[in-house]
Amino acid sequence: GTKEPTDLNALADEYLRLAYQNLRAKDDSFTADLRLNLDSTLGLVNITPQDMGRVLLNLYNNAFYAVQEKQKLTHNGRGTNAYKPQIEVTTHRENGRVELQVKDNGTGIPEEIVNKIFQPFFTTKPTGQGTGLGLSLSYDIVTKGHGGEMRVDTQTGEFTEFVIALPA
Ligand code: ADP
Ligand code: MG
Repeated sequence: GTKEPTDLNALADEYLRLAYQNLRAKDDSFTADLRLNLDSTLGLVNITPQDMGRVLLNLYNNAFYAVQEKQKLTHNGRGTNAYKPQIEVTTHRENGRVELQVKDNGTGIPEEIVNKIFQPFFTTKPTGQGTGLGLSLSYDIVTKGHGGEMRVDTQTGEFTEFVIALPA
């Protein structure tokens, strides 16, 4: 794709709503708290919007899946559930780079598998629900396609946060 000066905040916002609407179209009982902490001074970032859009959708779909899984696990059998799914997207400048963070309070990623998640075809999802290609493709788009970095921070049962750092 061709890089162009892009409003990354708008892209991040737009795709989050898109992913949420797609999910709610299938299950309108599902709700999540969407939080956007977008740095309004970010300016335009030189990226391929279509490619970065795919990265965002992958991260958001994974995040929504993880909070839905956690929601199933936290059901207490009496129809109430104190757990509130939450997805938080943050943008800011850090060391001369633009950072984008996607954090969810879902299942988290067990320590034994966290080093495998960027490998092609690695998935923990049932057949038909995951190809295992989302993160490997996203990693290539960020690193090879944009000269950026991508990393993950997670705690089992608590949260997962993906961080993308792009050249400003
Ligand atoms: P897929 O979504 O098709 O399984 P991905 O490459 O997108 O493939 O993700 C690989 C695996 O990484 C997932 O199957 C899951 O085990 C783990 N994973 C990715 N994102 C999250 C997340 N936000 N929370 C928990 N696990 C995640
Ligand atoms: Mg995925």
